[in-house]
Amino acid sequence: MSTFRLSRRTALFAGASLPFAAALPPMAHAAAEMKGSALPLFNRFKLGDFEVTALLAGTRTTEKPQETFGLDATPEDFAALAAANFLPADKTQNFFTPTLINTGSELVLFDTGLAPEGITAALAAAGYSPDQVDVVVLTHMHGDHIGGLSGEAGPTFAKARYVTGSVEHNHWSGAANEGFDGKVKPLNDKMTMLEGGGTVAPGITALEAFGHSPGHMAYMIESGGQRLAITADTVNHYVFSMQRPDWEVRFDMDKAAGAATRKTLLGMLAADRIPFIGYHMPFPALGFVEAQAEGFRFVPVSYQMLLNG
Ligand SMILES: [Zn+2]
Repeated sequence: MSTFRLSRRTALFAGASLPFAAALPPMAHAAAEMKGSALPLFNRFKLGDFEVTALLAGTRTTEKPQETFGLDATPEDFAALAAANFLPADKTQNFFTPTLINTGSELVLFDTGLAPEGITAALAAAGYSPDQVDVVVLTHMHGDHIGGLSGEAGPTFAKARYVTGSVEHNHWSGAANEGFDGKVKPLNDKMTMLEGGGTVAPGITALEAFGHSPGHMAYMIESGGQRLAITADTVNHYVFSMQRPDWEVRFDMDKAAGAATRKTLLGMLAADRIPFIGYHMPFPALGFVEAQAEGFRFVPVSYQMLLNG
């Protein structure tokens, strides 16, 4: 603390003396290079005896968000909700956030991003190598969740076993889907299926969250009396789909079921004040849910999780 005080006082003194430093030539330094926008690649916190690391496997800007998050909204209503939340109506930023949980005995990864490069870079930034991952949980089989499973170098997580919902796996097994057939099918002999209520490991329980895809699963994480939900793609925009959960979402394969699941799960998180990581939320993708007269409000976590020790 004393070092900080000393250096701060020194800095203040130096600043105060500047006007009298007439010998300083103007433009003494070359301009620093522009670095470009940047985000951290991981965010880690404790949850009971577990460690939870949110991993930023990618982010990109997309156009025309109404065509994804407000299919049945009027352009006026969509623009008004965007403006009320200080967002543009013509662009959005999408994030891809796998979550890694260290239970103390296993490293459990939820989803894998679009391609191996993103998830392995984020893992490396957080201090892990892909072959340390013991379990990969697939919440559902869309390409931005299974894409990191393998690449030209083969399977990304060489020593992992895999877990997914049986309804989801059964659907895609019969769908002649290129992504599933290329990324998931080769791992079938290492795959364990579960149903809603099934456990990946002690403290990690599957919740049926069908609608976004036929067997889409969310997960409840519980350790030492603390809880966190991994909501995956139950809700994919922190404003449009939370404040207007009934608005139709392009990627919800069953739109009515997607909306119903969204309201049920968000209602539960709001009532029980449980924080959640949402796969496509603004990084670090971690927030609470406040119920409002119409829909819900995303309350980003600030320092609450750091108080967990
Ligand atoms: Zn997704």
